[in-house]
Amino acid sequence: MPVTNIMSVDLEDYYCDLPFSEWSKYESRVIKNTERILDLFEKYDVKATFFVLGYIAEKFPELIKKISDAGHEIASHSYAHIDLRKVSKKQFEDDFFKSINVLEKITGKKVEGFRAPFFSINKDNYWVFEILSKKITYDSSVFPVKTQLYGIRNAPRFIYRPSLENIVNEDKNGKLVEIPMATHRIPIIGNIPIAGGFYLRFFPYWYMKLGIKKLNKQGKPAMLYIHPKDLDPSMPRIKEYSWYYYYNLKSAVGKFERLLKDFKFGTAKEVLAI
Ligand SMILES: [Zn+2]
Repeated sequence: MPVTNIMSVDLEDYYCDLPFSEWSKYESRVIKNTERILDLFEKYDVKATFFVLGYIAEKFPELIKKISDAGHEIASHSYAHIDLRKVSKKQFEDDFFKSINVLEKITGKKVEGFRAPFFSINKDNYWVFEILSKKITYDSSVFPVKTQLYGIRNAPRFIYRPSLENIVNEDKNGKLVEIPMATHRIPIIGNIPIAGGFYLRFFPYWYMKLGIKKLNKQGKPAMLYIHPKDLDPSMPRIKEYSWYYYYNLKSAVGKFERLLKDFKFGTAKEVLAI
């Protein structure tokens, strides 16, 4: 039996990495870009987990209903795409609860998972887990790599229950389950991110395939992610965005399709048997 990997979509618009106050200046592209992803999932019979921004759900409830009705899982990606390294506990709790309320009202189904915008959970703010565990079952924000932007170098690479005292330690009785992003481990060098998004555009397809195959050989599912904007070569230029937002966008759809064809995917809930 092939291992069931997890395909996830961080459902937000291309401008959502800008501060919230700037968003209204931009024209939305999220419906068209998401429908393209839904068509690909249907073509390859893939069910995925959508980590949805509460703001987008409020703006386009029919889109979220459509995703949910197609059998995909709806989870939270916060309400306003906040960076958890820059907010107080109270600010986070308000934002997170608001996102859950919006999503559950639209789908009528309980939300079980969360992904932090910018993978912004690190050694200084894992109080986040305490708040998450009040409402949901799993988190999927830990990236066991170290880049300039995010990551926890020595975090576990496979599904575990993090200790609330130290995120890199396992607590078998912990309330929350963590699903880290997929990495390829290279001796001496360390963990190489192969989870999707920018890395799908950056690496040749064979490298992604090799990394996922290696994980599956160990019986481990790969957690992958994509943004609607990663598959949109016509994404408008935003002057605050760095080169990596636009790198190799044209290659992404083809590679993404090959992934869907070559591997078995399911939702996080399915893999965790929730
Ligand atoms: Zn995001």
